[in-house]
Amino acid sequence: MVKLKIDNQEVEVAAGTSILDAARSVQIEIPTLCKHPDVDPSAGCGMCIVRVNGRIMRSCCTPVAEGMEVITTDAELFEVRRMVLKLILSNHPNSCLSCARSGHCELQDMANVFNITDAPLPNLTKKTPIDDSTKAIVLDSSKCILCGRCVDICQNKQNIWALSYLNRGLATRITPANGINLEDSPCIKCGQCSAHCPTGAIVEYDDTGRVWEMLRDPEIYTIVQIAPAVRVAIGEEFGFKFGANLTGKTYAALRRMGFDKVFDTNFGADLTIIEEATEFVRRFTQEPESLPMFTSCCPAWVDMLEKFNSDMIPHFSTCKSPQAMVGALAKTYFAEKNGIDPKKIRVVSIMPCTAKKWEIVRSQDMSSSGYQDIDVSITTREFAKMIKQAGIDFCNIAEETADNPLGEYSGAGTIFGATGGVMIAALRTAYFYITGQELAQPDFTDIEGLEGIKETTVTINGKDIRIAVAHGVGNVEIILDRIRQAKANGEELPYHFVEVMACRGGCVAGGGQPRVIGAPFAKPYGITDEIRQKRANGLFEEDLNAKNRFSHHNESIKTLYKDFIGNPGGEKAHHLLHTHYTPRDMYKSK
Ligand code: SF4
Ligand code: SF4
Ligand code: SF4
Repeated sequence: MVKLKIDNQEVEVAAGTSILDAARSVQIEIPTLCKHPDVDPSAGCGMCIVRVNGRIMRSCCTPVAEGMEVITTDAELFEVRRMVLKLILSNHPNSCLSCARSGHCELQDMANVFNITDAPLPNLTKKTPIDDSTKAIVLDSSKCILCGRCVDICQNKQNIWALSYLNRGLATRITPANGINLEDSPCIKCGQCSAHCPTGAIVEYDDTGRVWEMLRDPEIYTIVQIAPAVRVAIGEEFGFKFGANLTGKTYAALRRMGFDKVFDTNFGADLTIIEEATEFVRRFTQEPESLPMFTSCCPAWVDMLEKFNSDMIPHFSTCKSPQAMVGALAKTYFAEKNGIDPKKIRVVSIMPCTAKKWEIVRSQDMSSSGYQDIDVSITTREFAKMIKQAGIDFCNIAEETADNPLGEYSGAGTIFGATGGVMIAALRTAYFYITGQELAQPDFTDIEGLEGIKETTVTINGKDIRIAVAHGVGNVEIILDRIRQAKANGEELPYHFVEVMACRGGCVAGGGQPRVIGAPFAKPYGITDEIRQKRANGLFEEDLNAKNRFSHHNESIKTLYKDFIGNPGGEKAHHLLHTHYTPRDMYKSK
């Protein structure tokens, strides 16, 4: 431990702590535009200067030392920070009124706090092309303040290396290597760069206008579904506490907006489990050479598989994601049952995810109903904007229930939104399919939580099934390396079943979830593992209290198979609920 004084307060923190974090530990906030809890310090913005024994230094990357005396604010520090901000703003377009981040922008907040109202410096902003080539995220480098968060996330945390710095000095900009489009780059559309960007330089591709058009067209029958993770994060946009589960209010808001039917992606999650558990049992009992089996509900992971890991395609579950399964059934089963022409149906999904915008058009399999199964996929942030546009008092709206048949779900469907949840749900059903009995203990705490790679072993009928759960792309690659190495050495493979989610914490912290705005003087300082855990807890608590915690006991699913699909894993199931993967090999520029 190290003792020092910050603004004349005695502080004791672990050696190696930065001055910035030491100050936060005693509720002293030092402004910063580049430091984020998930990101290594880069000293990129210059706002966090403090006086250390009389000398001005950057607090994010200066570790504490015994006896240090730190002053975090005085007249000179305030003026230097103000000048730094003015310089940043002199290379930033003044387009707050029309910027997607307006009202949620760390730079805008900081400019307000530092009272940047007087004569600005000459503006040197250069027009740069806006890259919306992925139709999932949009990069406008003219709004970039070169804080480096996205580069650290994309290169060092996600290990994708789609983003890097191009050029030098005032011409520096963030872009894929060689200035190519994101669509042609290694980008897997996870949106983690946009979730961490402090400005409007990287945002989700906005589809709200298309949804309003559908809702206003009297000829169109509109169906909406919400993903598990949306319900435990949407409240943050309206002042609810982290992890508050607002399923009923969400349904009510969607009806108020004008959707004809409100379904729940949790139903799709239960269905995915039926198909995935069936597939796993088949591979485990009849095709052991096709193990380990990887889960396939994360489209960023699917993109990563096809681009960088096509040797693993035989190990990939062919099940579509819950979003895609609901889409396929809305325009077939539901349309047929209710005598609605599928041509007139439009399906909108509300997802925590930017990659889901890509998933809905990723292959012909996503049009298995004969039409594009899902018409638009919007993020939780876009949904929050729409609630506000519609003038809905979300805080006080009374709770409602979803519409059946595609709305009923089990606790197992709910936990899909958090790391470990898909695996737990699948194990409950796989155990039942193999033994004919229910698991006495349906919880697997070893694979809950935020450890990057989690492992457990489940014994079924005397056979040990080795399980791994990885979240965050960097961790996924460790698992892939272990499998490849065992194959190369002719050893027994380390796992039978692996769950993968590209975002740290799983979808609860997806690239389309509400941003936790830290700057400049309000806690928390950006999304943290504590917040990820609170959101996950909101889902696990719902499961714990659910009347039914097993996908295979969902009555609407049983009826669906009896009346429409036939057997799990059968021909019709394969046509509507499964997909194919195509190698699109490319190399990362690392
Ligand atoms: S979406 Fe993900 S992969 Fe693409 S640039 Fe952003 S962080 Fe990198
Ligand atoms: S795009 Fe955003 S996160 Fe990336 S360097 Fe620029 S301002 Fe920072
Ligand atoms: S973990 Fe969830 S939010 Fe993140 S890319 Fe995958 S599906 Fe999307």
